[in-house]
Amino acid sequence: MSGVLIVGAGQGGFQLAASLREAGYAGPVRLLGEEPGLPYQRPPLSKAFLKGEADASQLELRPAAFYADHRIELLHGRAVAIERAARRVRLADGTALDYGHLVLATGARNRPLPVAGADLDGVFYLRTLADAQVLKARLAAARRVVVVGAGFIGLEFAAVARALGHDVTAVEATLHPMGRAVSQPMSAFFAEAHRAMGTRLALSAGVVALHGRDGAVTGVEVADGALRPGGGTVFPADLVVVGIGVVPNAELAAEAGLEVRNGIVVDETLATADPAISALGDAVSYPSVHAGLTVRLESVQNAVDQARCLAHRLTGKPAPYAAVPWFWSDQADLKLQIVGLAAPTDSAVLRGDPASRRFSVFRFHERRLTAIESVNRPADHMLGRRLLAGRPSLTPEEAADEGFELKSLLAR
Ligand SMILES: Cc1cc2nc3c(=O)[nH]c(=O)nc-3n(C[C@H](O)[C@H](O)[C@H](O)COP(=O)(O)OP(=O)(O)OC[C@H]3O[C@@H](n4cnc5c(N)ncnc54)[C@H](O)[C@@H]3O)c2cc1C
Repeated sequence: MSGVLIVGAGQGGFQLAASLREAGYAGPVRLLGEEPGLPYQRPPLSKAFLKGEADASQLELRPAAFYADHRIELLHGRAVAIERAARRVRLADGTALDYGHLVLATGARNRPLPVAGADLDGVFYLRTLADAQVLKARLAAARRVVVVGAGFIGLEFAAVARALGHDVTAVEATLHPMGRAVSQPMSAFFAEAHRAMGTRLALSAGVVALHGRDGAVTGVEVADGALRPGGGTVFPADLVVVGIGVVPNAELAAEAGLEVRNGIVVDETLATADPAISALGDAVSYPSVHAGLTVRLESVQNAVDQARCLAHRLTGKPAPYAAVPWFWSDQADLKLQIVGLAAPTDSAVLRGDPASRRFSVFRFHERRLTAIESVNRPADHMLGRRLLAGRPSLTPEEAADEGFELKSLLAR
């Protein structure tokens, strides 16, 4: 059969299959996924789906007919080995699939909480539709909810749980919620916003153990910064959601002898060292022209744009991957949008008043714009996407001056 075999039927794998057909690829396209059902989008899992505003069928990326119409063969199963010499992928059930070109779009999995009690009943993670379905059912009966990790997913979940009337505590090992991804002013704004929603926020609080009774979780014990560094503060809980980051699914590649360093290593065209194997999405580390270094991103935009870029290469139109990275997160009525990639040391220039809940933070490295973080200001975000695709000439002074028309930059 050969053709293109895609392992991982998530956001990026689906997009590659669709984009190959759009680009005129006529050979066989097979999409292998270990999750049941049709490929679906994950972002609503921590938002509309948990709130009850969207059901599972609304998350599907396309209806079943799309795959038949586009001659995309959807296969269910888990790939366990790549036999590179024979150009074959071995599945857990012992069968094998051959390939002309193999694409690894295996995504990432949740990082497990490495403390005693993490396996108690009532402790949940959120990655798949199956995770979200169980969590939603159990949340209905929960009273005291503790979120471990104040990153995007933890805080999105906290906002939903508060809106549903639960008692919510979010514990975070660092001083800065979402600190890996946003500037300090933005982090501080969201910390305040969650407190105002009624969430108890424990910062600089590393979890040391989960407590339980009769096999069910009853509390989360944290080491409380300088106050109680050895632990001792316990937040009662009948439901715990852990969101402490992910681990790229790169074992298939590593075991096949491909380089893995915080993800499957690919070049700027998303090729591995084996010309018959490419990779994309959450699972890969790639050289970013925007960051000037190798990065691994976890976003829908990154998976989708990398899939489009790869579809072009596989249909004879190669180009380096250079899309401007962007991301969003919805937390209650706050829509956070980020465009570009900033280093933690980049400066942060405020445009607008955070008290109005409509403002942006412009990030600069030596007076060069690197990223824009916006809250409820989609116009700044959209303009940022256009600016950062070129060589933005915006100065920090202009960014801070609300009287300065950002749109005028497009004519410069
Ligand atoms: C709850 C949640 C909320 C999110 N919210 C946002 C958001 O608001 N904005 C945003 O931009 N991004 C968001 N993301 C991130 C976004 O969903 C991911 O970045 C995106 O799905 C990555 O696409 P991918 O194809 O690389 O991986 P995935 O979509 O994760 O797909 C990978 C697939 O590969 C399968 N797989 C792995 N190994 C194998 C194997 N050996 N054999 C067969 N199949 C395999 C996995 O089961 C999975 O189905 C969110 C993620 C989660 C979990």
